[in-house]
Amino acid sequence: MDALEILSDLENVFPYFQPIFSADEQQVIAYEVLGRYRTEDNIISLGPFFKDDQIPDEYKFEVDLLLVKKALEKAFDLENDISIFLNRNAELLMYGHGEPFLQELLAFEKKGFNLSRIVLEISDRNYRGDLDQFDHLLQYYRTYGIKIAISSIDSESHHFERIGQLEPDILKINLEALKSTATGVNFNDVLFTLSLLARKIGATLLFENIEMSYQLQFAWKNGGRYYQGFYLYPPEAEFIQRDFLKHRLKEKFHDFISYEKRKLEGVYLATEYFHVKVQEIVMKNKKVGYEELFQAVVKEMDQIAFRMYICDEDGFQKSANFFNGKNGWVIQSEYMNKNWSWRPYFLENIIKMRNERKGILSDLYCDIETGENIRTFSYPMNENEYLFIDISYQYLFEHDQLL
Ligand code: CA
Repeated sequence: MDALEILSDLENVFPYFQPIFSADEQQVIAYEVLGRYRTEDNIISLGPFFKDDQIPDEYKFEVDLLLVKKALEKAFDLENDISIFLNRNAELLMYGHGEPFLQELLAFEKKGFNLSRIVLEISDRNYRGDLDQFDHLLQYYRTYGIKIAISSIDSESHHFERIGQLEPDILKINLEALKSTATGVNFNDVLFTLSLLARKIGATLLFENIEMSYQLQFAWKNGGRYYQGFYLYPPEAEFIQRDFLKHRLKEKFHDFISYEKRKLEGVYLATEYFHVKVQEIVMKNKKVGYEELFQAVVKEMDQIAFRMYICDEDGFQKSANFFNGKNGWVIQSEYMNKNWSWRPYFLENIIKMRNERKGILSDLYCDIETGENIRTFSYPMNENEYLFIDISYQYLFEHDQLL
């Protein structure tokens, strides 16, 4: 495809729209605008045209502006709470210091198009210009109500810095990386962190490239409010009914919710089970030393636990570690007096246990020493002694609602 061919044939440049659905309303809340070009016998994406470094920015700008115009004119047919996502790389946005593009948007505002419906999907990964100026421009756009989304976030960590700097309204997460199981595990954890970060800065998560049911489930489970992808609806020239997927999404959510509730119920029951068991052991062994207590736990939970120790309420370890290694259970006295109060949730859990007088089963996490996924059951023996029992991966594997 020749750039000049497109430039001399702008009539055949036109926008496609891919709907974005929301979890809370299960209906269309926005469309992403994608550039298309009609050749004699085909409709092709303008993506490669915009990504081509050989094509001068002014050509790209001309084609882009036309797309924006055509898209926004058509958007007058929509309900006025449906947003329009426009893809902007930094070069395109900085063209003419961002003025011509803003003037175009303001012309639409005069015609009654509220600019708070505009979301700029920005990408600045390969931008060689001044990033400060770029950020400045974005802040200026925001004063008009225009929203900012960071596009195509994948498992790479460099996004974190930009998210911190820009505090975007929306984080658009690319689920393509989820396809290969090799990166899947790692991506899971990155996403969990992203969802925490999004919550802290008040950004909304949008998952794109959803192509299969499990990706939708993943998006739902990881705090995704907005969804987009071929599994839901492909990009097309025309808008669709906003409740087009309502029924199907409701059904899907119903399945996801049932599955998740079953899992949570499993965790709850396991917590109850451990609580009763450990309570009984601790009651029976009130007067004995730590090592004898550990032996009593091992007797009852040999295939379940692989490490145990006791801390005070400030997280200082009062006992040695009792650890089930290759040669059976051993005492590791080097752990005496270590402090664990710096661990996430440690003090919250102490306060919770102390007030509710109940044990807590932790979330699934990777044990630093063994590298295995484990959970920890912690139990308040009294005001100043808290028993920690690490549950083996093998046990969790056999009770897969705990994984
Ligand atoms: Ca995009």
